[in-house]
Amino acid sequence: MIPFNKPYLTGKETKYIEEAVATGKISGNGLFTQKCQQFFEDTYGFKKVLLTTSCTDALEMCAILADINAGDEIIVPSYTFVSSALPFVRQNAHIVFADSYPDNPNIDANTIENLVTEKTKAIVVVHYAGIACDMEKILEIAEKYNLIVIEDAAQAIDSFYTFKDGTKKALGSIGHLGAFSFHETKNIIAGEGGMLTINDEKFINRAEIIWEKGTNRSMFFRGEINKYGWVDTGSSFLPSEIISAFLWAQLENINPIQEKRLAIWNRYFEGLKDCKNITLPVIPDYATNNAHMFYIVCKDLDSRTALIKKLKENDVLAVFHYLSLHKSEFYTQKHKNGALHNSDHFEECLLRLPFYFELTEAQQQKIINTINEF
Ligand SMILES: *Cc1c(COP(=O)(O)O)cnc(C)c1O
Repeated sequence: MIPFNKPYLTGKETKYIEEAVATGKISGNGLFTQKCQQFFEDTYGFKKVLLTTSCTDALEMCAILADINAGDEIIVPSYTFVSSALPFVRQNAHIVFADSYPDNPNIDANTIENLVTEKTKAIVVVHYAGIACDMEKILEIAEKYNLIVIEDAAQAIDSFYTFKDGTKKALGSIGHLGAFSFHETKNIIAGEGGMLTINDEKFINRAEIIWEKGTNRSMFFRGEINKYGWVDTGSSFLPSEIISAFLWAQLENINPIQEKRLAIWNRYFEGLKDCKNITLPVIPDYATNNAHMFYIVCKDLDSRTALIKKLKENDVLAVFHYLSLHKSEFYTQKHKNGALHNSDHFEECLLRLPFYFELTEAQQQKIINTINEF
């Protein structure tokens, strides 16, 4: 069976874990954590990076930092993972779901303004498949209504957005706050792991405190204060050095990993571009492609079900993706959202093809042939 995903190891992961263990410091915020954070700040222009134990945790930090409380409304796309909404629900906010574009699973920026009320506090954007949302338009709306923009950049490492004036910025560096994932299904992995990116300086001090269980321990270790204590809310959001050491081995190889993934993505695109009855991903002019995933969109649910079956008969595991959150069991117990047809369309028709570093050309050709025959 050709699996859907296979975590890629660069070979140095266990070596760096041994090094971390040998230093005698394996709790959080040690050398490897700081090396990883520095790498991200230097490479992608984030003002401040804090590694976390997951992207979900980073989003929980965003919800706390944005001071989300009962009565607040948060605009979130419906076609996304639960984690884009859950941290705000835990702060007792009300989620207002937005639709996707007809031809792109990302949040349709043209629909956002209609959802804004005087209670709206933040917009969560999700860069689906690592392809940028229309950030310029989203920032305009956010400025007009004084909203906080949080980028769920879980899939968006090493991907960029170009503004109309030509400025190019890394995804996760554009909103006030951003969150990335290093889950084993992403481009760069640490088993479970994530990071918070802070682009508005006013959040930096408080983020460090929330990260370290509500204490000002980070300031203490920098010698800025002479004792540390409990000063705010928070949790244990920081990963151990064992996770960071693993992540560092991945980061040293980010360029070859990205090149290989792009080659795989391009081979799928070339092989399937003349295929009738499916549509391929659209990459807007303002976005780059970080080759996080390759998906196709089938005509309808029946044809997708039949294609999944046909691929399985040929030992290929292709999988659909999100179920619209606005129709989920949890949300509909208490709330009702208007219909979101585009999100539902992707729920029923989008199909993800096997995508991982070690996928061979021969395996890929077999997948392409099977789809073309179908
Ligand atoms: C993977 C993913 C997450 C969750 O990441 P974790 O690190 O597993 O918490 C959140 N949002 C999106 C869009 C994702 O793809």
